Amino acid sequence: MERILTTDYVFHRDFTKEYPIISYGKGIYLYDKNGKSYIDACSGAVAANLGHGIEEIAQAIADQAKKAAFVHTMRFETDILHLLSEKIGKLAPEGLNRVYFTTGGSEANESAIKLARQYHKDSGKEGKHVVIGRWQSYHGNTFGSLSAGGDIKRRQPYTPNLLPFQHIYSPNCRHCPYNREKGDCEQHRDWSCVQDFERLILQIGPENISAFIAEPITGSQLGAVAPPQDYFKEIREICDRYDILLILDEVMTGFGRTGKHFALEHFGITPDIITFGKGVSAGYAPLAGMIASDKIIDSLIQHSQGKFIHGYTYSGHPVSVAAGLSALRIYERENIVENAKVMGSYLLHKLLELKEKYPFIADVRGEGLLIGIELLKSIQPSAAFPVNYKISERLNELAMELGAVIYPGSGSIDGVAGDHFIISPPLNISKDEIDELIIILDHSLKLLIQELKE
Ligand code: PLP
Repeated sequence: MERILTTDYVFHRDFTKEYPIISYGKGIYLYDKNGKSYIDACSGAVAANLGHGIEEIAQAIADQAKKAAFVHTMRFETDILHLLSEKIGKLAPEGLNRVYFTTGGSEANESAIKLARQYHKDSGKEGKHVVIGRWQSYHGNTFGSLSAGGDIKRRQPYTPNLLPFQHIYSPNCRHCPYNREKGDCEQHRDWSCVQDFERLILQIGPENISAFIAEPITGSQLGAVAPPQDYFKEIREICDRYDILLILDEVMTGFGRTGKHFALEHFGITPDIITFGKGVSAGYAPLAGMIASDKIIDSLIQHSQGKFIHGYTYSGHPVSVAAGLSALRIYERENIVENAKVMGSYLLHKLLELKEKYPFIADVRGEGLLIGIELLKSIQPSAAFPVNYKISERLNELAMELGAVIYPGSGSIDGVAGDHFIISPPLNISKDEIDELIIILDHSLKLLIQELKE
């Protein structure tokens, strides 16, 4: 706790920790002021998707800042706002075209929740205000997005202030909250997690529900867990049956992270709203947003005098938009989504080799370059590490000492699900760089196992 006593003015994320000071980054590496390098194996917060030090994006930012650093989108627009919106709209499934920008993913989800509310209210369905989210999901830290999310640790301190949103369990077939055997639901085509969704809708009353929000692949809370293949098709049908908007949170998964432009492409569904963030600007400037369906936009025009009652000072900030446009041009030109797919299967294969070596690696899973590794104290019967071990945090500390940073998961809440960490390097990573990362991970895991034996 010495930090508290220093003459330091920074409001640290954790006052008990000392953080390395980064002076610059190049490619997949970050360098601290002592010259030590770190492989950025999680792209920061799964955001720096093209790695560091790209001159072209830096130049686009500087050029725009010189031209017009701030343009208030209540009064003006810019050409680049139109260009970037068009690029994003064209990547989205048919019927989702209009792009609304925010600065972060929490604000993007906040906006989607409000848009869903306004959509129903203005078309005369006054009662539809409840959002259904999922336990063990994350949609952000602002009150609306926190209320929709299901991270118990983050929710708990604010419980009396959260909105009365409802939750079902996220599908997690390895540790099914409904005690179903893996594959059983698919075989019998009766998904307990889907049935629970409909049960909850009928319990609350569909006339009270505005939207369902979910991550297509559950990122930080479960560690890159995909649902059963047909889960979202079933969810889509139920949403349609009860006039509930489907919001897919692609803040972590969007823009190539899972080897597709959007992760929803793995499941062949079309939501009503997609939220995005992180990868859209490859982390070069704060940028996020949502893509709304034509159905919602038509309704805004017909019922709401064309106005969404919402807005942020920095919506469509030109410098961030310039960063986004430049990043998307690079994604396109350098075939980044394909690289994420190819390098993703190579990385998965290398991590599965580590699984053979270390008995406490219970599972390696993921799509593209979003890979989760689950750690369990014993696999049969499955037993999680005690929460106070903070096992994946410790692994990250060891990896950082050896020169790589990973994304530790929040650990087990219910004593079953296991700790995890995410490996999500920049999408332009090469095979040689993956090999280098694997050597560091291998070494870190060896040190961790030694510590556990002591
Ligand atoms: N949604 C998902 C799936 C996320 O992973 C995150 C951030 O990690 C957010 C929303 C919130 O984004 P932000 O931190 O930019 O507000």
